[in-house]
Amino acid sequence: MEMDQLVALCKRRGFLFQSSEIYGGLQGFWDYGPMGVELKRNVREAWWRDMVTAHNELQPPPGAPSPYEMVGLDCAIIMHPQVWKCSGHYDLFHDLMVDCRESKRRYRYDQIQGRWVEAKGQTIFVTGEAQGPEAIADLQHKALRFFNLRSKEADELQWHGPVASLTTLESAPMPAPGEGKAAAAGGPGKVYDFSRVLGPDAKTLGTLTAPREFNLMFKTIVGALGGEEDAAFLRPETAQGIFVNFKNVLDSTRVRVPFGVAQLGKSFRNEITPRNFTFRSREFEQMEIEFFCHPGQSRAWYQYWRDRRYRWYTDLGLAGQRLRLRDHTPEELSHYSCGTADIEYAFPFLAAGDFGELEGVAHRGDFDLRSHMEGKLVRQGDALVVEQDAQGKPKYRGSGKDLSYFDDLTKDRYLPHVIEPSAGADRATLAFLCEAYCEDEQPDESGKPTKRVFLRLHPRLAPIKAAVFPLVKKDGMPEVAKEIYAALKPHFNAFYDEKGAVGRRYRRQDEVGTPFCITVDGQTLSDGTVTIRDRDTLRQWRVKKEDCPAEIRGRLGI
Ligand code: ATP
Repeated sequence: MEMDQLVALCKRRGFLFQSSEIYGGLQGFWDYGPMGVELKRNVREAWWRDMVTAHNELQPPPGAPSPYEMVGLDCAIIMHPQVWKCSGHYDLFHDLMVDCRESKRRYRYDQIQGRWVEAKGQTIFVTGEAQGPEAIADLQHKALRFFNLRSKEADELQWHGPVASLTTLESAPMPAPGEGKAAAAGGPGKVYDFSRVLGPDAKTLGTLTAPREFNLMFKTIVGALGGEEDAAFLRPETAQGIFVNFKNVLDSTRVRVPFGVAQLGKSFRNEITPRNFTFRSREFEQMEIEFFCHPGQSRAWYQYWRDRRYRWYTDLGLAGQRLRLRDHTPEELSHYSCGTADIEYAFPFLAAGDFGELEGVAHRGDFDLRSHMEGKLVRQGDALVVEQDAQGKPKYRGSGKDLSYFDDLTKDRYLPHVIEPSAGADRATLAFLCEAYCEDEQPDESGKPTKRVFLRLHPRLAPIKAAVFPLVKKDGMPEVAKEIYAALKPHFNAFYDEKGAVGRRYRRQDEVGTPFCITVDGQTLSDGTVTIRDRDTLRQWRVKKEDCPAEIRGRLGI
C-alpha cells in the first residue's frame, strides 16, 4: 500500500482532515472526521477497558508476578511550572535544529539525510528531508540541479558512500595542547563543518547553521497579568500528572503496591518538523500507565508489561511482521532507565526495514517520585543526585512532600519503582489503519471485475459495526430495514442506508471497515429472513430478521 492511497481514503471517507483546512491548514495539527472520531474512540476505549476496567485485581493475569490493582486519573493539561523543572523537561526536553541562511527554513538536525557526490571536479554533501524509497531520487535530483546537469547526464555523478544523516559529519575537535581531557569529556564542544553541505532547499553550499537546542514545550500565559512569572506549559506528556498525584491516589483509595494508574489525554510538543501524517503531530493523545511496584520486583514487572503491551496490539490485529518489540541498547537508555523496550511498526512512509515507535515501555526506577520529592536529579557516577546551582543550592526544588510508601503488612517503608508503558493513541490509530488497508478484485453489478478497497479493521475498532440496507426503496423493504436498524442501535453503532445501487452501498461500507452488512430483500417479505454479508470473505448467509442483534453481537464478541 502506498501512503498516498490511505491519506486519500482518510479524507474521502471522513477519517482525518487537515486542521483549519479552509485557511490553508496548520502544520502538525489534525482533525478526526465522523469516521475517524469513532475509530480513535474505539482505540482509546479498548485500551481503557483492557488495561483498567476489565482488569481483575483478584487474579494475576498470565505472566504477572502477582495480582495487582489498576485505577485511572484525568489531570489538567496545564500544571504548576515547577513540575516540568523537576521532571527535567524544562532543561532537557529539546531537539537540535539547523537553520538555512538562504531558504530561511528550519530543520530537525537528525532528520537531514545526505550523501557525498562528486562531479565536475567538486565533491559536495547533498542533502534532503525525503525518507524511504524517495530519498535516493530526491538527492539525485538536487545534485543534478546543483551541478547544472540534465537527467540523462546522471552518469556523471559519482556517489561516495551510503545515504547518511547530517549528524555523521560532526566531529570532536582536535584537542589543543593540554586540552585533551576536556575534549574527551565533550568539553569545548563539537565541530560542525557544513561548508561543503548543500542544504535541503538551498542553491549554494554552506548555508546551514550549526545545530541549536529548541525546547519542545508549548509556552502559555496563565492569568490576566501576563508577565514571564506567569508562564506555564502545555503538558508534553500525561505521565507527570500521575506522579504528582501519587499521594492523593494512595490516600483516597485502598490501593496497595503493586498498582497502576492509567491516564489518557492530550499532550503537546512543538515538533520542529511535524510530518508523516499524524505520526509526528504537535497535538496528540497519549495513553500512559505508571505502574508502582517494590524495587525488588521491578525487573519482573518490567518483563510483564513489555510482553503484555505487545500482546495488546497483536490481539487487535497488528499481528503481522510489521510489528516488532525492540529492546533498547545500553547507549539508547535515558540516564535514569534500567531497561526500555519500544513497540514499533513498519509504517509505509518509512524506508524498507525501518520502524516507527508506537509505544515505549520503560523501567524508570524511583527517578520520578524522587524528583518530585527532592528536586531535579542528575547522574553522578552510578548515583542520581539533586542538581545544584552555582551557589550550591538545589537548581530546582522538589515539593518537599514525602512520597514514600508504607507497607502496613511488612512494616516496610520505601520509594516504589515505576514501570511506564507509554503509548500514543494517534500513532496506534494510524498503524491500525495502515494494517487494515486492503485491495482486491470483485465483480461489479454487471459482473466486470473491479478494484475493491476495504479496511480489514478488528471488529472492536471498526467505526460502524453493521449497516442495514433495503435492497430497493419500495415494497415495504425500508420499513423492515428501519425496524432492524432500531433494534441494533442500543447495542452498537449501526448505519442505515437506502440511497443508490446496493453494490455501491456495500463498497462505501467496505471502505470504512464495517464488518457486516444486513440486506432486506424480496425473500424477507415472504419468509422473514435477511442476508448478512461478511466484509472480508464476502460470504452471505440468511438469518431471521429478529435474530440480527444477537447474530451480530455474537460475531463481534460484544
Ligand atoms: P519519538 O522519538 O518518535 O519522538 P518519543 O520517544 O519522544 O517519540 P515518548 O516521549 O516516549 O515518545 O512518548 C510516548 C508515545 O507518545 C510515543 O510512543 C508515541 O506513540 C506518542 N508520541 C510522542 N510524540 C508524538 C508526536 N509528536 N505525535 C504523535 N504521537 C506522539
